[in-house]
Amino acid sequence: MILKDFIIVGGGIAGLSAIKAIREQNQSASILWISDEDRLPYKRTKINKHIAVGFSRDEFALVEHDWLLTHHVELLFDRVIGIETAKHELSFKHRGNLQYHKLIVAIGNKPRPLSINGLSQDMVFNVHNARQVENIIRSTSSSRTYMVVGAGVEGVETADQLVQKGKKVILVDRNSMVLQRFFTPKYAALLQDTIQKAGIQLLLDVHDIDGSLGESVIQMNGQQYDVDTVISTIGYTPNIELAAASNIQCNVGIRVDEYMQTSAEDVFAAGDVAEHPSGEITCLWHAAEYQAGWPE
Ligand SMILES: Cc1cc2nc3c(=O)[nH]c(=O)nc-3n(C[C@H](O)[C@H](O)[C@H](O)COP(=O)(O)OP(=O)(O)OC[C@H]3O[C@@H](n4cnc5c(N)ncnc54)[C@H](O)[C@@H]3O)c2cc1C
Repeated sequence: MILKDFIIVGGGIAGLSAIKAIREQNQSASILWISDEDRLPYKRTKINKHIAVGFSRDEFALVEHDWLLTHHVELLFDRVIGIETAKHELSFKHRGNLQYHKLIVAIGNKPRPLSINGLSQDMVFNVHNARQVENIIRSTSSSRTYMVVGAGVEGVETADQLVQKGKKVILVDRNSMVLQRFFTPKYAALLQDTIQKAGIQLLLDVHDIDGSLGESVIQMNGQQYDVDTVISTIGYTPNIELAAASNIQCNVGIRVDEYMQTSAEDVFAAGDVAEHPSGEITCLWHAAEYQAGWPE
């Protein structure tokens, strides 16, 4: 069986940062980077901010193929489906097993499912990866009215992009203010004013959403709205299933110590999937980059 010195699972910024840190210290170790997406690892923060203008396949790539070659990093497109920690072995969706000396799990998070009566999950769009955002961009050729559920940062950005694209947008939140995690009511009110002036219809305090009344009809707090497409930006949950199935200690995220070590020998985790000793899960680009990097 093929053995690699380092296997990094997850084609995001945490994975790349770990690779750069390893190469700074060790030019000869074999490094295998695994991504389950359909393109070069890219800057995830850009995708929902480019719905209006669109983007080409590798426009936001974090590294070029040449960089991978120069740094002797092998990029494999597949999905890891099992970790056998005692054997230091990974199993894959499409290829045979591989062994590692050290494993870095940087597999991020996934959208929390949006549950609306009458709407199945496949009728709800997300902005979590480039393919999903491309689907939204494609939908703009036929959809005229969008409902964006979740008035956090990504929801506000996504709604704004769709308005720029000439769409009618209803931005919905169950809270009584936008960006509740970040803003005081006073500053949220200023942003709400700006959002409405941009042409976005803002519905707050929405606790009752029903999509069972017919095609393109959504009822919220007793009132009916025409909606062609629903986009969920209600938040994310760390991808812990892979680690949990391997008996690596997880809580909300994969538990790590201050060195990003998990409960399993030679297995580390970083980025949006990692839960720190304080219980914090950061979900921020630079935090993911920093955690997986070499301490300065
Ligand atoms: C639309 C959007 C906008 C954002 N904007 C901002 C912003 O403006 N500022 C900011 O600070 N943060 C922002 N964030 C958050 C930021 O993007 C994340 O904190 C950061 O990308 C986390 O990096 P990561 O490497 O931990 O995980 P990710 O970027 O999620 O990468 C994990 C990768 O692992 C892959 N993967 C999962 N399971 C497996 C498996 N079993 N096998 C192989 N691969 C697997 C995933 O498909 C993914 O490609 C945004 C996030 C989104 C979704």
